[in-house]
Amino acid sequence: MSTRAYIGLGSNLDQPADQLRSAFEALDLIEGTRLAAASALYTSDSLLPGQPRYTNAVAALDTHLAPLDLLDALQAIENDQGRVRKERWGPRTLDLDVLLFGEQVIDVPRLKVPHYHMQARPFVLYPLAELVPVDFQLADGRSLAQLLQDCPFVGLERL
Ligand code: ATP
Ligand code: MG
Ligand code: MG
Repeated sequence: MSTRAYIGLGSNLDQPADQLRSAFEALDLIEGTRLAAASALYTSDSLLPGQPRYTNAVAALDTHLAPLDLLDALQAIENDQGRVRKERWGPRTLDLDVLLFGEQVIDVPRLKVPHYHMQARPFVLYPLAELVPVDFQLADGRSLAQLLQDCPFVGLERL
């Protein structure tokens, strides 16, 4: 039995659109995992001043991995694509966040799912909405339609 997981992708360094395309390929190559669907790419200004514009997308994965093993694989892909961790929320070649992992609510130091800030991020919610049914509910019971209503499509450009 595999689990459907949704991954948020982001980049604002070194050709962000190319970084995301490479990441989609790398996600499909994770052991025991296949890329089931990929959203369009979206661009938006950084929330922090002075950083380059971001490109974001969401991937749907079907995986046989356990959540922390999937996180290990995501962090390996971030490292392969040159992610350097200096300050928190600094510019990055690639960020891969677990948004949702099946119906699971996970709260351990390395992994909190649903992703703690997804409800406030239009660059997460709108690409996710491309990949799920209109009546989709998060593991904690919140409806995606309600989250979209509370998070307007502002400052986003769909490529
Ligand atoms: P944000 O979490 O606000 O999007 P970020 O993605 O830039 O910020 P990172 O530097 O990529 O943050 O990750 C910091 C730590 O967050 C990671 O070491 C990881 O263990 C932890 N983490 C907790 N929950 C998650 C999750 N759902 N997906 C990915 N990493 C997570
Ligand atoms: Mg992030
Ligand atoms: Mg991250």
